[in-house]
Amino acid sequence: MNIHRHPLLSPAPGTQRELVSLHYGPDAQSSGGQKAYIQASLHADELPGMLVAHHLRRLLDELDATGQVSGEIVLVPMANPIGLSQFVMHGHQGRFELTTGENFNRHYPDQIDNVAKAVESDLGPDAAANVATLRRALKSAVLSSPVETELQSQRRTLLGLSCDADIVLDLHCDAQALLHLYTEVPCWPDCEPLARFLRSRVTLLAQDSGDNPFDEACSQVWWKWARHFAGRFPIPQACLSVTVELRGAVDVTHELAAADAQNIIDFLRWRGLIKGDRPPLPDPVGDARPLAGSMPIKAPVAGVLTFVMEVGAEVRAGDVLAQVIDPVTAEITDLKSPVDGLFFARDFVRFASAGMRIAKVAGREALRTGKLLGA
Ligand SMILES: [Zn+2]
Repeated sequence: MNIHRHPLLSPAPGTQRELVSLHYGPDAQSSGGQKAYIQASLHADELPGMLVAHHLRRLLDELDATGQVSGEIVLVPMANPIGLSQFVMHGHQGRFELTTGENFNRHYPDQIDNVAKAVESDLGPDAAANVATLRRALKSAVLSSPVETELQSQRRTLLGLSCDADIVLDLHCDAQALLHLYTEVPCWPDCEPLARFLRSRVTLLAQDSGDNPFDEACSQVWWKWARHFAGRFPIPQACLSVTVELRGAVDVTHELAAADAQNIIDFLRWRGLIKGDRPPLPDPVGDARPLAGSMPIKAPVAGVLTFVMEVGAEVRAGDVLAQVIDPVTAEITDLKSPVDGLFFARDFVRFASAGMRIAKVAGREALRTGKLLGA
C-alpha cells in the first residue's frame, strides 16, 4: 500500500491542510484492470463513513499482505479536512464551508465539453479504447484546471483521484435513517448488486439532479459523452458512482462499520477487484425509486417536534409521521405523509422552525421537478 499526501492551497500563511489517499493494488491504467475509489465523510460531521473507512483499511491491509488485491483500490479515509476543523460555538459544521456557505458536496467542475473537443479525433469504434482515451484526457483536464481557493483545491484533488475510476463510493449519512443509496439512472444496472451487498432498503435514482454533487460529477461524464457522440463512437457508462448513506449520524459503532466494510469488500470481490471465489449475490432487501418521488415533509409551523413513526415504516398517504406542538397555545399540528412509500429518513433535532424539512418518504412516482437535492 502506498500513502499519498495532497497539500491543499494554503488559505493563509502558516496554514496548510492536506488530503491523504491510500493506494492498494496495481495501477489500473497500466495493468488494464479496474479501479475503485472510496472516500469517507465529505460532509465532515457525518462520521459513520470514517469508521467504515477505518475497518476497510484493516481489511485491505490484510488482503494486500496476502497478495489478494488484484484491482486498484484508492481509499480516502477522511475527505474533508476543511470541514473537519470547522466548529462554531462548540458545534461541528461539516456540511457547508463557513467562508462561502457552499455545500462541500456541490459544484464539482464540469470538464465534459472541453474533453469531448480535445479527444474527438482520437476516438474510434472500440468502446474500451474510447474509455481509456477519455479517462486520460479527463484526468489531465481535472488536474490542470485552475483553482483560486482552498475549497476549490479540495474539490480538484478529490475529483482528480476519482474521475478515472470504474467504481466510486462516496460515504455519507443522514440524520436518522435506513441505509440508502443515491445514484444516477444510467448507473442502476451496476448499482443493483451493490445495493444487495450493502442491504440497502432504497436507492434513489436521478439524472442531473442539480448543482453537480460529487457522485454525479464522476458518473455524468459518461452518459453525457454517450449522448454527445451518439451514432459516431460507442461510449459505455464506464463509472458506477454512488452516494452511500450509512444510516444516521450517531450510527457510529464498530459492529455496523465492520459489517459495512465487509459488505464493500464482498462487492469488490464480486466485481473482480479482489482475488478469490466470487461471493454469492445476496437477495435484495430493497428497490430503486425516483429521487423525484422522495417527498420531503415540512413543518408548516414552529414548535416542539415529536415523531410518532419510526424510520423503516411503510406508510400510506395521510398517515401521521410526527406532530409539532406549540408550547404557548397548546396547538398540535399533525405532519402527514403526502404519498404511499417508505419512511426512510428523519431529522434528529426536536424543535421545528416554520418551513423546516423534518422527514422524507420515498414514494414510487416522480412528483417533484427542478433541483432535487436539499441544501
Ligand atoms: Zn452528506
